[in-house]
Amino acid sequence: MMQVYIDGKFFPKSKANISVYDHGFLYGDGVFEGIRIYSDNIFMLDEHINRLYDSAKAIRLKIPLSKTELRNAVRQAHKVNGLKNGYVRLIVTRGVGDLGIDPKKCPKPSIIIIVNKIALYPAELYKKGMEIITASTQRTPVSALNPQIKSMNYLNNILANIEAVNAGANEALMLNSSGNVVECSGDNIFIYRNGTLITPPTSTGALDGITRRIVMKIAEQEGLSVKELIFSKYEVYTSDECFLTGTAAELIPVVKVDGRDIGNGKPGKITRLLINKFKKFTGEK
Ligand code: PMP
Repeated sequence: MMQVYIDGKFFPKSKANISVYDHGFLYGDGVFEGIRIYSDNIFMLDEHINRLYDSAKAIRLKIPLSKTELRNAVRQAHKVNGLKNGYVRLIVTRGVGDLGIDPKKCPKPSIIIIVNKIALYPAELYKKGMEIITASTQRTPVSALNPQIKSMNYLNNILANIEAVNAGANEALMLNSSGNVVECSGDNIFIYRNGTLITPPTSTGALDGITRRIVMKIAEQEGLSVKELIFSKYEVYTSDECFLTGTAAELIPVVKVDGRDIGNGKPGKITRLLINKFKKFTGEK
């Protein structure tokens, strides 16, 4: 059975429990990261740790371990569970408090590390591409709760995801209040249009995705023109290629958006090239 790290100790999955008074549970008051393990390597660990500390800083949550200590805890959780390829969920919650929302009543943040397998989408979709819809649920505005903060409040994303499932799709495209494309419910979005690879800037409300950063870097190394630009659904509908990126999703082609075929309705050449280069970059065997 998988062993879960909670505040420095390991518990079998069935006994890995936290208090119902933890504000992570009561209010979604906490931050998290999803990290891949490829061929026994914890992929982009420093980047994930840095983003976690930035998220925590933004919500004034002091993580009770140094970055080095937390990195070592993640490595230890990987070792204890011995998964060659897998996924790490690293969570820091506000900790146990009373029934009010005041974080001052929570003296000790909780640190939880779960290691397991993950398969976000059916394998065949990586070959034939997937269909997405645009959600009517707008992405949380930067001014309300900046999505740069990878917080445990995922209801905004879940409401969009429910719309996708209801429409028989796997993901939902989310727009901001200006009608510009932000990202999907759990992934960043890229379009390839008129010879340029484009993704929305984080100022739209998109997460500064770590997979997104890698893809932009790889694409530049391949000599592609890469730009962070504001665009609307129209540019998605009329793009030549489209794909989504995320730690769990990796790179997945999108071939239909709101019933419109993207390009010729098949995963595009640039998408396939980037999927191959990304696979090499992860070192997965
Ligand atoms: N956007 C959202 C809303 C996400 O939850 C995620 C992570 N699942 C991403 C984008 C992708 O980020 P990353 O590549 O860092 O996993």
